[in-house]
Amino acid sequence: MSKKLLLKDAHIEGIRYFETYRKQGGYTAAEKALKMTTDEVLEEVKASGLRGRGGAGFPTGMKWSFLAKPEGVPRHLVVNADESEPGTFKDRYLMEFLPHLLIEGMLISSYCLGSNVSYIYIRGEYSWIPDILEEAIEEAKAAGFLGKNILGTGFDCEIYVQRGGGAYICGEETALLESLEGKRGNPRLKPPFPAVKGLWERPTVVNNVESIAAIVPIIDITGAEYAKIGVGRSTGTKLISACGNINKPGVYEIDMTITVEEFIYSDEYCGGIANGKRLKACIPGGSSVPIVPANLLLKTVNGEPRYMNYESLADGGFATGTMMGSGGFIVLDEDQCIVEHTMTLARFYNHESCGQCTPCREGTGWMYKILKKIEKGEGKMEDIDLLWDIQRKIEGNTICPLGDAAAWPVAAAIRHFRDEFEWHIKNPELCLTQNYGLANY
Ligand code: SF4
Repeated sequence: MSKKLLLKDAHIEGIRYFETYRKQGGYTAAEKALKMTTDEVLEEVKASGLRGRGGAGFPTGMKWSFLAKPEGVPRHLVVNADESEPGTFKDRYLMEFLPHLLIEGMLISSYCLGSNVSYIYIRGEYSWIPDILEEAIEEAKAAGFLGKNILGTGFDCEIYVQRGGGAYICGEETALLESLEGKRGNPRLKPPFPAVKGLWERPTVVNNVESIAAIVPIIDITGAEYAKIGVGRSTGTKLISACGNINKPGVYEIDMTITVEEFIYSDEYCGGIANGKRLKACIPGGSSVPIVPANLLLKTVNGEPRYMNYESLADGGFATGTMMGSGGFIVLDEDQCIVEHTMTLARFYNHESCGQCTPCREGTGWMYKILKKIEKGEGKMEDIDLLWDIQRKIEGNTICPLGDAAAWPVAAAIRHFRDEFEWHIKNPELCLTQNYGLANY
């Protein structure tokens, strides 16, 4: 059984409220951190090996150490709660059921970074959660954990919640900052990075909800102890939101030492494929990461078991590996049509492109149109190569990672399921009524 750090108290009735959270030991990590120097807190975060839980997996301690500290210029912490990646809903769970874990993590992080005004930018569709967060902020303030001179330390901290307008692109950190400033959420060219010029051109750290919540157990048990959980550079625990054709969709906390097979088939997690079907493929880290067919999902190219961690999921390189990403684990059974699935994703990325760069604006549209044609049984063989060519021209040629996120699912689908694309083209009369199916493998 995986060790629980973030969700250990999630089952306790009333844990959403300050009184219950406090009774379970809540805010003791904040009390401990506020007695430490800011450098000591930073060293704990570095020692923990925590990697950003939003998708990129960049070391959090290193990100914090890049924060510029010009004299007299305010700094900010911004929590990225714009969780819009299809298949990812773990931050929603944290905010809805454990809002004080996030607020306590923000207090410790704000203290370490020197942010007196911090923000939570939350996706507009999570319409009921801002009220939960604002209530938790008021409770923390009433108890002296936010506001002026917190616990007599002289440190002041206010937290504000800002609702997004429902654009996926605002989950990209610079687009988020633009939106938070009241402008259209267009990504910025980097450099300068937010650590130097972020919100209102001030030094800013943007971190995912889960990353900031993880600061609480890190301070609680120490960074060194946190780093002992997990394996290699995949330290600590990770939240996985599992969905698709499984028996037990939900949010699970894993310690990154379990295999993918155990995660899918064990009763503790997904409970196996629904309706007794067979596993066809999986997207392990949210819709942007490459899809992996069952044979490579359960084993690496070298025949080793594949584990639920950053290194093992990426093993095999770009040709076969995928990524931990945001932890949105989407399972597809034998009845799912890869062409239709890829088309649905292409439509999503085309709709969400902000339109600033030509390869993304035009390329996502072309990919969607070609996939739609193939899916309707109107494709030609050369369309597959055309699709491949378009995704190659998008990848790496755009301002922000949405371009790559649109290209990778198409590339992986063609790489692993080319025969299914060909079947659609060769059998136009069948592909409207039948699925290619696992039997064809
Ligand atoms: Fe906008 Fe797409 Fe360019 Fe990102 S890659 S800036 S979403 S057009």
